[in-house]
Amino acid sequence: MLKKIFNGFLNFILPNTCLACDEPLTGAQNYLCEKCFAALQRYDEIHPWQKEEIAAGNIDHSMSVFWFREGTAIQQLFHALKYQKMQKAGILLGEEIGKLAAAEKEIKFDLIIPVPLHKARKRDRTYNQSESIAEGINNILGIEVVTGAVTRSRYTPTQTRLNRSERKDNVKGAFAVNPESAQQLRGKNIILTDDVITTGATILECASALKQAKCGKLWICSAAYAELRSGNI
Ligand SMILES: [Zn+2]
Repeated sequence: MLKKIFNGFLNFILPNTCLACDEPLTGAQNYLCEKCFAALQRYDEIHPWQKEEIAAGNIDHSMSVFWFREGTAIQQLFHALKYQKMQKAGILLGEEIGKLAAAEKEIKFDLIIPVPLHKARKRDRTYNQSESIAEGINNILGIEVVTGAVTRSRYTPTQTRLNRSERKDNVKGAFAVNPESAQQLRGKNIILTDDVITTGATILECASALKQAKCGKLWICSAAYAELRSGNI
């Protein structure tokens, strides 16, 4: 009886069927079967705002691994990560970021920083999904994940219905580097990571706090890119 309950609990955390097609998973697969994982649409483009932000000195590079499309396996994966407490789905996604960042030979990255959630929101969700993604990047690159160096000082209302400039205003001044962490960040090459980027407003605001703390190279990397108004995940 107890064993049965325990197995049920394990299945809840790590499902043994594919989230998208329900086929049984083999030992090496997590969340999605090989076919559904291979069918995820890679984001091989540059963000519409990337050049402008690099030229302004706000970041040194930006990238996303997948397109976020509604009704596809990526949506199932994000749903599992955000609302079903499947932190390991974030690790799987983070490893894909890590593989792309590992191909960069010019820069030696020093730190990975997950975009922090406001503590009220973290309390609701119980964990920060971007920390799971950071953990996945760390699995590939083997560099330190730093949490707590940047804090989200303001609770920002949901941005779903806002356009890019409204989103920028909405998050203005929302992040701050802890004074005691400033030394740790100075001159360091950083990967700043989040689950989804849309207009980039949130992650760019967080990036600006890191640049003010005089970090070195700064890459912003997300598991997925969603076009504005592609719906709420
Ligand atoms: Zn499948």
